[in-house]
Amino acid sequence: MMRIILNKQTMAMTTVQKATFECLAPVALTLGATLLCLPAQAQDKVLNLYSARHYQTDEVMYDTFTRTTGIKINRVDADDAGIVARLKAEGAASPADVILLVDAARMASADAQGLFRPIKSAVLDKAIPSNLKATPTPDGVTWTGFSTRARVVVYDPLRVKAADVATYEQLADPKLKGMLCTRSGSHPYNLSLFATVVERLGDEKGEAWLKGLVANMARQPKGGDTDQIKAVASGECAVALTNTYYAARLLKSSKPDEKSTMEKVRVVFPNQGTSGAHVNIAGAAVARHAKHVENAVQFMEYLASPFAQDYFANGNNEFPAVVGIKIDNAALKAMGGDAFKAENIPLGVVAKNMTKVQQMLDRVGYK
Ligand code: FE
Repeated sequence: MMRIILNKQTMAMTTVQKATFECLAPVALTLGATLLCLPAQAQDKVLNLYSARHYQTDEVMYDTFTRTTGIKINRVDADDAGIVARLKAEGAASPADVILLVDAARMASADAQGLFRPIKSAVLDKAIPSNLKATPTPDGVTWTGFSTRARVVVYDPLRVKAADVATYEQLADPKLKGMLCTRSGSHPYNLSLFATVVERLGDEKGEAWLKGLVANMARQPKGGDTDQIKAVASGECAVALTNTYYAARLLKSSKPDEKSTMEKVRVVFPNQGTSGAHVNIAGAAVARHAKHVENAVQFMEYLASPFAQDYFANGNNEFPAVVGIKIDNAALKAMGGDAFKAENIPLGVVAKNMTKVQQMLDRVGYK
């Protein structure tokens, strides 16, 4: 009977509201909390998705999933931090089944806070390279990457030679003093990169490298990746770091100032002769308190399908995570994104090194 009340409540709500109220509505009816969020019946053809992605192309991806499986998607959109805060606030009452976030550092952080549920999937084991996922435990894998982005160097060809910025290590060379611009060192994009550099170089050399970056700064870290590219184009800096999709977005822009920005800079995929360019992920995880676990796993497996991969990656000018799917993106190709060597350090190490790297940043004064 309680379920009937709940269903009547939810049926009257809009799609997005429904995800919010599926568990919360009965609170107003003062029913016992333990009764509110009983595991959904297997026949419930519903999936509650919390997404930090806001791309129009995703709509086709979701609609196609619903059409082929009959599973309706209720979506809650928020930014990464908002989603994590919401999951924590909702606790066991959370209606969330699948969480979409960007960056391994954010995934690792949410995972460390116990917000994800490990799953086992032979489909995902086969489709997604193991370095693009959380480190597996006997219970399964918590988060999985479904698209990748490389963290590349942008430089001013009038002031810097390509050979001087061919590796991440060279960014700490005193030769580049007063030339480097980055966003905050603590931003997840940089934390993830730094965590893998420290993994490769070891703690001592890794921290010395971070100190070298600080010594080469043209200004205090500020702004986002696009701001760094624009700062190189304007001459404020000569070298910067950006995720590939920001550069691709500017390359595709119809705004004259953004087009001219990319004409003034060059892009380098670092470490092509050694460890490969650092790649990060946008990915998904099943929520710790998911009520529709089977649907959630089915959705995760769908994200690895060639059809969904096309939308998932292209929606944000990213690369597919599934091996063997070719990119079809002129801007990424123009940068050399169709044939670069990617780092293969498991992104699970980001979780392992994150706290250590943050402490190093504090010690070397990387704002
Ligand atoms: Fe971004």
